[in-house]
Amino acid sequence: MSNDVLVPKFAAFRSTIFAEMTALANRTGAINLGQGFPDSDGPPELLKAAADAVLAGRNQYPPLPGVPELRRAIAEQRSADYGTPYDPDTEILVTAGATEAITAAIAALVPAGDEVLVFEPYYDSYSAAITMAGAHRRTVPLRPQHDRFTFDPDELAAAVTPRTRAVLVNTPHNPTGTVFSAAELAHIAAVCRRHDLIAVTDEVYEHLTFDGIRHVPLASLPGMAERTLTISSAGKTFNATGWKIGWACGPERMVAAVRTVKQYLTFAGGTPFQYAVAAALPERHGWLSELRARLMTARDTLRDALTSSGWRCFSCEAGYFLQVDARSVGYLDGTALCQDLATKAGVVAIPSSAFYADTEAGRHLVRFAFCKSHAVIATAAGRLAEFAGTTKQREGAAPWREARRSV
Ligand code: PMP
Ligand code: GLN
Repeated sequence: MSNDVLVPKFAAFRSTIFAEMTALANRTGAINLGQGFPDSDGPPELLKAAADAVLAGRNQYPPLPGVPELRRAIAEQRSADYGTPYDPDTEILVTAGATEAITAAIAALVPAGDEVLVFEPYYDSYSAAITMAGAHRRTVPLRPQHDRFTFDPDELAAAVTPRTRAVLVNTPHNPTGTVFSAAELAHIAAVCRRHDLIAVTDEVYEHLTFDGIRHVPLASLPGMAERTLTISSAGKTFNATGWKIGWACGPERMVAAVRTVKQYLTFAGGTPFQYAVAAALPERHGWLSELRARLMTARDTLRDALTSSGWRCFSCEAGYFLQVDARSVGYLDGTALCQDLATKAGVVAIPSSAFYADTEAGRHLVRFAFCKSHAVIATAAGRLAEFAGTTKQREGAAPWREARRSV
């Protein structure tokens, strides 16, 4: 038997870029602005609620759909924030993070051989989930317009084929930081309605929007509630990425289908954390305005230092990540830049090509995570500014202004 026992269709998924770059940070001692996880805890009340739940004996399997307290809290949050009503008994399913919800949704809702539309760049698990389901991925490119990534509605419409079953929409978007506007969402909704597609939305950064921009769920648009499965999670909302408490909300028939698959992935889990999130969600407002303010300050600190030292930064309306153009510091290749940044600048980033099927399209893009303390961001920003000063005129690198058309 060959040593390589991995089924060939998974060969491209051997290790995630996040694990690789975190290992590089650990090896080199560089500041880790790669994998997106905060370096501080969530609200103390949340932590205490989890500890209390453990000590109160809430340590056995939760019900398959999640503890009723959490499903009720999710229903109240979605109704209060977006006016989208869900029945906590039949229209909400608690999952092992957003990741499980996405994987179970594609497996449950997309027949093998059918197609799923994704906006490229896309979060890495989408492609793996589509492969596991035996479905096919079709990409719709996001490109910068005045430094903000968006799509061309004609390209979206043209990507639909008779085999298209679903569109997977991530807003606020990782890694571009775009929050789809009402007009952009209306284009997506129109395509879904016209071709009778289902929508699966990944809204894990729903609360982390900046500059007064508001997140709008696709499910809140006319004709979309009945065809949209909305996914979110507590990881980003409460600085608890390791808890893996996520959820999916949608029409009963969609949620029932996803539950069928989910019960054989993990069945259920995270009982004490589910209780803690149930207690924290209704109290979210104070914590979230503080978190948004902290993230926005971190984004500004990083972006200002980078921009003033010659890096080209793209716009960032939400989330954890700031994308830059490697060519602005003399690199054509983001992966090469990330290697040099780790060893020469002491900062680890993610080459955004990891989020592209068409790796050439994302070759020059690099992503920094700014969900870190002020001191860490300030130090990293200083190192990156200094690095730019040393690499400005690398030979063979086209300045981004000239290369812009190819973005
Ligand atoms: N979707 C996106 C866009 C993400 O950035 C992440 C990473 N947190 C996830 C899904 C995974 O979420 P979770 O940790 O809740 O599984
Ligand atoms: N969502 C995180 C990011 O984009 C990574 C999560 C993971 O390590 N799989 O950085």
